[in-house]
Amino acid sequence: MAQKASVDRDICIGCSVCSETCPSVFKVGEDSNRGNDFKSFTNDSVDQQPIADKVQEAIDSCPVQCISWQEKDDEQKEE
Ligand code: SF4
Repeated sequence: MAQKASVDRDICIGCSVCSETCPSVFKVGEDSNRGNDFKSFTNDSVDQQPIADKVQEAIDSCPVQCISWQEKDDEQKEE
């Protein structure tokens, strides 16, 4: 079963370490739900499996450990 990284934005401090480590998946920007504080967002259109090592590096580098792998059980639909 595929996995994808997910950010707990209640904990994220917007330091940009993840977006510098793995910019294709992580972007840091203002979160209107959290007072426009800078938070990390994941780009869900990117297939994270081929770059799982880089995603893991970002997870390991997060200073507040707010990124984790989540099960992604939707089937891939290829045309
Ligand atoms: S490394 Fe962690 S705390 Fe820093 S922006 Fe990314 S998710 Fe947020």
